Amino acid sequence: MKKIVYQKPGMAAEERIVLKANLHTHTTNSDGKFSPEEIIEMYQGAGYDVLAFTDHRKTNPVSSYDGKGMVLISGIELHPVGPRNITWHILAVGVPEDFPHNYPATGQEAVDLANASGAAVFCAHPYWCGLTSGDVMTLNNILGIEVYNTSTRYIGKEFNMYCWDDCLNAGKEYTAIAVDDIHSRRDFCCGWTMICAESRSQEDIIKALKQGYFYSSQGPEFSKIAVHDGILEAEFTPCAAAVLVGRNSTGAMFSIENPDGPGTASEVSSIKADLKDCPRGLFRIQLRDANGNYAWSNPIRNPYI
Ligand SMILES: [Zn+2]
Ligand SMILES: [Zn+2]
Repeated sequence: MKKIVYQKPGMAAEERIVLKANLHTHTTNSDGKFSPEEIIEMYQGAGYDVLAFTDHRKTNPVSSYDGKGMVLISGIELHPVGPRNITWHILAVGVPEDFPHNYPATGQEAVDLANASGAAVFCAHPYWCGLTSGDVMTLNNILGIEVYNTSTRYIGKEFNMYCWDDCLNAGKEYTAIAVDDIHSRRDFCCGWTMICAESRSQEDIIKALKQGYFYSSQGPEFSKIAVHDGILEAEFTPCAAAVLVGRNSTGAMFSIENPDGPGTASEVSSIKADLKDCPRGLFRIQLRDANGNYAWSNPIRNPYI
């Protein structure tokens, strides 16, 4: 079982278990190519711990499925009409299997009904939808967005860092998940969410999502994300680039490819910085390994403003 030391500002350090999750999954119950049984087989084989079923406007009877050791979570993707007639893709993870609100009238109603049912609610793939950060921020009480969505690679819109940072710049403390949004084989296993939970129970998994105890990845793994005594400390698998991404033009670089021109290399596997030297307000840690795979921490609030 993977572990991480997680310490939020002003909180005690905690050792938590790390659960690899795909939180956005389609099956033959909507427009996915694979049956629930096939999807379970695939993700279990790839070493996942958590799999959320989020078919379009439809829940799955996950309690009747054999998870083969994985925690299966009932979810749904909701599609009310949004700004400029663009359809929202509202991802709700942890709705009851008999969730009855498949056709909410507005984005906010979708968010409110999903929240009322106890789900963790995110705005899915805003870049692909054509939604601006301003549109996303009209939704109250979402946890955040998808920073990475494998299925939207086919038109080059898999990354949502700009939208995320825009929202952070505006003071919205959004978290961000990475998901496959799997419909077919090409969407398999390119981005995932590492949930840092107190236990493997569904209750603790949803709680960790709601409290922001997770990070997103395509490969690099954090073993420590800690803020204490005015110091930021992070430890992770070796990466070619490690940066702090902050408000507007602020940030900090700890390593980057080609430090002395093409062909030169530098690698980093930890960050230690005085918060006085970190971006003010909300900032996040972004890693990239030598293969070009990213990992993203959730935002950290610097007490220095
Ligand atoms: Zn979608
Ligand atoms: Zn989807």
